[in-house]
Amino acid sequence: MKSLEQVREVMRRDRVFDFMLPQGISPTFSNTLDTSHNVILYVEDISVSFDGFKALNDLTLYINEGELRCIIGPNGAGKTTMMDVITGKTRPDSGLAYFGQTMDLTKMSEYEIADAGIGRKFQKPTIFPEHTVFQNLELAMQMNKGVWQSLRYKLNSEQNDRINEVMKTIGLKQNFNQLAGSLSHGQKQWLEIGMLLTQNPRLLLVDEPVAGMTHQEIERTSELLTSLAGQHSVVVVEHDMEFVRSIAQTVTVLHEGHVLAEGSMDQVQNDPKIIEVYLGE
Ligand code: ADP
Ligand code: MG
Repeated sequence: MKSLEQVREVMRRDRVFDFMLPQGISPTFSNTLDTSHNVILYVEDISVSFDGFKALNDLTLYINEGELRCIIGPNGAGKTTMMDVITGKTRPDSGLAYFGQTMDLTKMSEYEIADAGIGRKFQKPTIFPEHTVFQNLELAMQMNKGVWQSLRYKLNSEQNDRINEVMKTIGLKQNFNQLAGSLSHGQKQWLEIGMLLTQNPRLLLVDEPVAGMTHQEIERTSELLTSLAGQHSVVVVEHDMEFVRSIAQTVTVLHEGHVLAEGSMDQVQNDPKIIEVYLGE
């Protein structure tokens, strides 16, 4: 895929004329997201080593604003490590990671990154089982207000509307009063996505959302993530190929910490390199 290299030359974040860069403010401390180039996430030449083993090796990828991107790749390809770098959990040895044009993710704390608008859903849902669906969303919304404030906090009507809107999006409006612990596995995953949505993230990172789901739940998850694209940018890491095929616009294939291929599902599936390292495993 030669075109991939060509696209990259044009996409590089440093290919911007100086006079277009904001003056007088340090990029690290600028907290407004600038997507004027239509790119919400820049990952360029990122390398991460664990005891000499390169989990990420010159990883470069770009996510456009409003895009829904699938990342696939065999176990150990570096998918989770990539998310760890984007969310500030792991610092790269080299390379750069920017949220929009100005926010240097490698210099921000995990909290600052979440606050700037990057939400991450881990594999294992972290919901409050003893609380209702509504209360879970309420708690998630309050979390960014800080613990002390949330104790005396009451929802205003705008926030109440937002929670209702989120319940509709995740298909749990009928379940608003149900204890989260009694939801099905799939519903719990959707609730957690909803909890992220209450914070209005601009970029959502979702790690293996359909593991353990029924066929019907997988379909519903595909619809949900597709409906989020546009308003949010979504990066989904997933093993389930049928699921990826059902949602993917662009697929990025990781292998040994590096991008092996990028393109439509059809392009990627018919690439002999991919069949060898991933689909044929
Ligand atoms: P994936 O999510 O694609 O399965 P990971 O990003 O979890 O891959 O892991 C990439 C490689 O880095 C694996 O070989 C894994 O064993 C290694 N690795 C990940 N995290 C650590 C860590 N904290 N310490 C040592 N090795 C790690
Ligand atoms: Mg992983």
